[in-house]
Amino acid sequence: MYVDAVETGGLTPYYDSHTHTEHSHDGACSVREMCERAVLCGLAGIAFTDHCEVDTGLEACLDVVRGLKSDVSRARDIFGERLEISLGVELGEPHHNPPFARELTRDPEIDFVIGSLHHARGQPDYYYIDYGHENLDAIMSLYYEELEELVECGCFDVVGHINYQLRYMDSLTRSRANPSKYYGKLGEILRAIASKNLGIEINTSGLWRGMDFTLPSLDVLKMFRAAGGKVVTTGSDSHDSSHVGAELKTAVEYMRTAGFKYLAFFKNREPSFKPI
Ligand SMILES: [Zn+2]
Ligand SMILES: [Zn+2]
Repeated sequence: MYVDAVETGGLTPYYDSHTHTEHSHDGACSVREMCERAVLCGLAGIAFTDHCEVDTGLEACLDVVRGLKSDVSRARDIFGERLEISLGVELGEPHHNPPFARELTRDPEIDFVIGSLHHARGQPDYYYIDYGHENLDAIMSLYYEELEELVECGCFDVVGHINYQLRYMDSLTRSRANPSKYYGKLGEILRAIASKNLGIEINTSGLWRGMDFTLPSLDVLKMFRAAGGKVVTTGSDSHDSSHVGAELKTAVEYMRTAGFKYLAFFKNREPSFKPI
């Protein structure tokens, strides 16, 4: 489950660009604990990307960012020579309130923004949907409609966990949902991301949760490459220190298979490209 300190030796640098700390409502560990684990795993860098859901309001999000700033500053003093540390946010549903998203992400101390879709307008988080009793085609279609809106809105650097809804379906429901049926629409969205010089992430949480795919999967990563996409980050979506770095080796293997030669790690809202 862990990226092993010995295993990560060698020339490939591993970067975990999607992690949550105790500043997220569903995070368990401090920035310091996460950094200790990252160093033990032999990671070259980590980005803290706590939840800022625009639908929860600006003040709640500003609280998250304030807490992260002081913890990240301390962590850089302690770990800065061994670990690149990036201060990020996972911005949920920026397209639901673009002025809010612009206001929040204007902060010059924010290094990295993941734009994520956790729920459609007026709908619960995909985590809470009872897929056995819902119209799967309606769920899937609405997901891509809102993802397209999110990309049009911008205010982020990479799109988080594309096909997030699949993470919460059992394998039978996933095959009934037939994600490849929507690849035409998803291809348009990937071309829009690439044409804006934005990126996507490979989120390994599917793998360490016991499923056999990343978010997005390898075939979607290949589609992004074919669409001209260049910016790809790797992230565990860890909500505690035990999953920091989990399955990043697989993510990098997928990137190589898809033809990428560099992964991106963000500082000051700019990607630096690391050879893989
Ligand atoms: Zn997320
Ligand atoms: Zn996350």
